[in-house]
Amino acid sequence: MNIKDYCYDGDRKFSPKNFNTADTAEYKKKRDGSVRLMENLRKMASLQDKLYAENKESVLIIFQAMDAAGKDSAIKNVMSGMNPHGVSVHDFKSPSSEELEHDYLWRANRALPERGNIGIFNRSYYEDVLVVKVRQLHRFNLPSRCVDDDIFKRRYRQINDYERYLYENGVRIIKLFLNISKDEQKARFLARIENQEKNWKFSDSDIKERTLWDQYQTAYKEAINATSTSYAPWYVIPADKKWFSRVLISEIIVNVLEDIKPQYPVLSKEATALLSEHRQQLLNE
Ligand code: AMP
Ligand code: MG
Repeated sequence: MNIKDYCYDGDRKFSPKNFNTADTAEYKKKRDGSVRLMENLRKMASLQDKLYAENKESVLIIFQAMDAAGKDSAIKNVMSGMNPHGVSVHDFKSPSSEELEHDYLWRANRALPERGNIGIFNRSYYEDVLVVKVRQLHRFNLPSRCVDDDIFKRRYRQINDYERYLYENGVRIIKLFLNISKDEQKARFLARIENQEKNWKFSDSDIKERTLWDQYQTAYKEAINATSTSYAPWYVIPADKKWFSRVLISEIIVNVLEDIKPQYPVLSKEATALLSEHRQQLLNE
């Protein structure tokens, strides 16, 4: 598995039509991928420990997807490889009345991870160029001078500027689009309806959004192609097979953490000398 095959950093276009959502790379079955997944979760834990100790870079992991693509379970899986101390998950729902009183990046900015931390966004400001675009929700709050046919083009530019700003200020951004097929979504919705323990996961709005499938596919395609950059690349994750999406996601996160090369802080000579003094003092008690 080569994560470059799934990476969009501006050099090529993402086309949903030519994307195999059931891809599992060289792995045939869940069992084949599980060794790699375990290895990655172990590496993640050790790298996160160093990232936290170093307290310099932070990592922002953005999850976007259609309903039932497996965001929640993928997040649960990633979290299982990390020390909860130093990781946060933030869900972006329909904006509250307070959030609607502000520009669309306001709520995201407040939820950014601190230095040394990993922040997971379950949905994100990308909703403001996805659901907002498909449903034309932007018309309600903005002054008329800000609303015209180019509003989403401007938002793509604003997002690129914002992500560049974050990158230049110590935030690494990993953007994951969990891409499922329409058939797989149908199967998962049916499972949510037929299995009582899964009923709570299903909402009326899921069916309504599904009727807009094609509009969402276009919105994702446009948003991803307009915001694929070297400093904040998109990864499109084949998500029909949940087990494979987990292996790939873990691989991507480990790759970025390794690239950061976090190190435990090394004490100065003076601090080391002081430590041996303290040691002696304790031994002399
Ligand atoms: P879920 O992730 O299933 O809990 O659903 C959250 C819902 O909030 C989804 O239907 C999103 O499309 C919606 N949502 C998130 N951000 C926004 C936004 N900025 N404007 C409108 N709806 C949003
Ligand atoms: Mg939902």
